[in-house]
Amino acid sequence: MLRNFIFDWSGTLVDDLGPVLEATNAVLEKYGIAALDREAFRRRFRLPYREFYAEVLPAVRLEELEGHFRQAFARAATPVTVLPHAREKLEWCSALGLRAFVLTAMDTAAFELQLEDFGWRHHFEATYSGVLDKREMIHRILATHGLVSAETALVGDMAHDVETARHGGIFSIAVLTGYNHAEVLAAAQPDLTVPDLGTLRELLDKWRGVSCASDPAGIPS
Ligand SMILES: [Mg+2]
Repeated sequence: MLRNFIFDWSGTLVDDLGPVLEATNAVLEKYGIAALDREAFRRRFRLPYREFYAEVLPAVRLEELEGHFRQAFARAATPVTVLPHAREKLEWCSALGLRAFVLTAMDTAAFELQLEDFGWRHHFEATYSGVLDKREMIHRILATHGLVSAETALVGDMAHDVETARHGGIFSIAVLTGYNHAEVLAAAQPDLTVPDLGTLRELLDKWRGVSCASDPAGIPS
């Protein structure tokens, strides 16, 4: 049974694709690169984002790009909103005593502001932000919090989240509410793909019902 959930933030719990797209295009424009529309972004953008920028702006230092991005993100007109079913999913975790964490590449200052704004801090045992390559952090999170890999899932919207879960030997759950197009995510071969967190909650409730009845330690396969 899954008892621990490591959530990605952007595109999984909150919808910040609008402001991220605005800020990314502001960075690209600064260097004379054509803006991306939403669908082109969902096919091309990837984490670690240094790889994305190495492809589109290979001659510019990452620190310089990050500076421009942070300023443009702070100025972005499109608001960051809570994704449908995210609040309910976190409340579901809290109500059932399931452990929840955040692992995000988002800049820590921006992440902390959003965490505070949405009033979600109490839902998480610990949060890890500003993590450029999540694969380098996943083993430390599992070890620090004593998370049993067979009981732990990483929930995310990008191929990098699936790769991170595989690297950590934990269950990977892909949601289609975020930054990666469904085809890009499918190519990463997640253990489970759901359209959104509402469907995930229903599915896990069903599994919990089945495993509680037949095998208290049952793990979904
Ligand atoms: Mg994400």
